Amino acid sequence: MTGLSDTFNRPINYLRMSVTDRCNLRCIYCLPAEGIRLLPHGEILTYEEIDTIARLASELGINKLRLTGGEPLVRVRLPELVAMLAEIDTIDDISLTTNGILLKDYASELKQAGLKRVNISLDSLNEDKFEHITRHRKLNEVLQGIEAAKACGLNPVKINMVVMRGINDDEIVDFANLTITEGWHVRFIELMPFATDNPPECHSTGGETELHPQFMSAQQIKERLNILGKMEACKKPVTGNGPAKYFRFPQTTGTIGFITPISEHFCFNCNRLRLTAEGKLRPCLLSDQEIDLRQPLRDGASPEKLKQVITEAIQTKPRQHHLPQGTIPKTRRMSQVGG
Ligand code: SAM
Repeated sequence: MTGLSDTFNRPINYLRMSVTDRCNLRCIYCLPAEGIRLLPHGEILTYEEIDTIARLASELGINKLRLTGGEPLVRVRLPELVAMLAEIDTIDDISLTTNGILLKDYASELKQAGLKRVNISLDSLNEDKFEHITRHRKLNEVLQGIEAAKACGLNPVKINMVVMRGINDDEIVDFANLTITEGWHVRFIELMPFATDNPPECHSTGGETELHPQFMSAQQIKERLNILGKMEACKKPVTGNGPAKYFRFPQTTGTIGFITPISEHFCFNCNRLRLTAEGKLRPCLLSDQEIDLRQPLRDGASPEKLKQVITEAIQTKPRQHHLPQGTIPKTRRMSQVGG
């Protein structure tokens, strides 16, 4: 392993790979009800291509992989991909971001294939509200998925909630309570502005004067939790590569994380590179800049040449995102990048 850094001396060791642009939900802040134009299958990287890219990236210093989407579990035979990636010696962490709907069917197979842990997106514990947010009535499937993931030892299971004022902020305390009663690891995520034609009422921008009424900062979310008592900062971070700051209520096993891309960006610690389902490297989630890796891969470029493309992509990683200046990613939706 050589170790990989960008031009700001940030070590880059984490690759998030989107395996599909398809999703079985239509969350109001992410996708329109009718869906979006999907990539033809031939444009999506094959498992062999994803594996090749992961191997080359690992030779450059990437040692953590996350599979995301779209919804990664709608791609057929995902455990086969996990098993391929698990054979890469220098990869020591493979994780998955999922909406959890299909997890009860795959958790055990994924674990056996080499998946270490899972993040499950869940924005409401109320069936009607879940349906309003996701446009599907599938809360029970997600809850069963969470149980299945825990039962087969995918650990930790983290629950990610995107908080939206007036939509699900009345459930902040309910989610936090589950860290006390059930030992859940809950992370509250600030709503990010993304893509062009999402309903504008679901967006905020980083500019102080332009914050949308649905945006809630981590600080505002924290204030809602005062009713449950005083949280303490976690001394040991919960396993992962993420930017969350963790807290817990005394004598509980669960944790509460805050992910603050808007109110307190964490770009100076960013260790990530992203790969879209059709093989574009995306150095920054919140910047439209992308570098194509699929074409040279399909043209038969040498491993050295492909590694050079990856290295050069990393060198274009911006110092930080520019949401406060009003630069919002426009070319893709979050479902086409993977979060
Ligand atoms: N389908 C998978 C899932 O639901 O976790 C993976 C893809 S999804 C795009 C990844 C994450 O991005 C989800 O947790 C989702 O809630 C989050 N997300 C999507 N749009 C967002 C936005 N505008 N702001 C904050 N988080 C967002």
